[in-house]
Amino acid sequence: MTITQDVVTIPRKLPGGDRINLVGLTRDQLRDALIAAGTPERQAKMRTGQVWQWIYQKGVRDFSAMTNLAKEYRALLAANFVIELPEIVSRNVSADGTRKYLIRIAGGHEVETVYIPEETRGTLCISSQVGCTLTCTFCHTGTQKLVRNLTAGEIVGQVMLARDDLGEWPAPGRAPKVEARLLSNVVLMGMGEPLYNFDNVRDAMKIVMDGEGISLSRRRITLSTSGVVPEIARAAEEIGCLLAVSFHATTDAVRDKLVPINRKWNIAQLLEALRAYPKLSNSERITFEYVMLKGVNDSDADARRLVALIRGIPAKINLIPFNEWPGAPYERSDWERIESFADIIYKAGYASPIRTPRGEDIMAACGQLKSATERARKSRAQIAEEAGLG
Ligand code: SAH
Ligand code: SF4
Repeated sequence: MTITQDVVTIPRKLPGGDRINLVGLTRDQLRDALIAAGTPERQAKMRTGQVWQWIYQKGVRDFSAMTNLAKEYRALLAANFVIELPEIVSRNVSADGTRKYLIRIAGGHEVETVYIPEETRGTLCISSQVGCTLTCTFCHTGTQKLVRNLTAGEIVGQVMLARDDLGEWPAPGRAPKVEARLLSNVVLMGMGEPLYNFDNVRDAMKIVMDGEGISLSRRRITLSTSGVVPEIARAAEEIGCLLAVSFHATTDAVRDKLVPINRKWNIAQLLEALRAYPKLSNSERITFEYVMLKGVNDSDADARRLVALIRGIPAKINLIPFNEWPGAPYERSDWERIESFADIIYKAGYASPIRTPRGEDIMAACGQLKSATERARKSRAQIAEEAGLG
């Protein structure tokens, strides 16, 4: 397979001094910031709308390009604010077109963002934390300790960087593209547990969905959680996007090992929260993610238990062949096993797509993300012990 790698270092702006970065502020926060910088209150609403559109609809980073604002006002903005994104450290392109970006955020930490092109759409998989506090035993990110939560600006910044790289901002003077977007969907399935960074994820997704900006419909955004039960209803009410859940097992004994958060909120509690979600969020079905691990959770009995458990929940079951990573204590289920599992689910009336691994050659597939530069890691012995194999 051919892998291309080019290192693009976008020069960071000179340190902004006290200047505030506008990327990631909610509309209300932006309005307050503009007023604090001297915008008259009676103009604040209009100015907020104008600046918002320049940043999120047109992708402009330089106040001097905001041509519908008076020169003096542009100077005032430039003196007080910056429009800054995280930095792309490297960009790898897989043989299948998947792009993996290594992104550096404040403090020198790194996260990964993956763009997956498909025939009729393009999905960006974004990260919400550097590392993860959870320790799912099959997940590479889970071997990396949590370093910190991403800010709202760093989360929406990943979408903006990808749009930069895809050349997807409208040309000056042109209306934004509504159809056939290269970046048409966002999934919160990169590094981290999004519901453990709730406020920043919510604020960033509100910006992504805002009709005067990037303008992605809430039905094109999917948040994946390992099962932070108390935050699920809040996600429905305050974000309203689609929900995916890392289910992965059909008994508490197995789920306790694979997804240790299950020891806090078990399968019954999780299912109760999931049952309420579609109504609360006015969305259709929930995606159940199910990683196929050889001899661990992939039997026909598991498939039958799974359909019995989720009965009554509008659902699609996404089977994910396990993606290997160095030192992983599991193996991918055989193809025939996965098909037989899928067949039982399909016959029970659920869509059961098998997720084709994308970008495996550049370690961009599900669960393979981990920033190599982060040294804090758990030992192999600890991973094996958590998997119950020690
Ligand atoms: N923390 C969130 C979102 C990120 S993980 C969550 O756990 O839901 C995105 C999906 O990839 C999850 O379903 C996760 O369980 C799955 N995954 C993790 N490691 C994997 C691996 N090695 N192979 C296949 N899928 C994996
Ligand atoms: Fe964290 Fe999700 Fe990986 Fe579990 S699967 S360790 S919750 S990123």
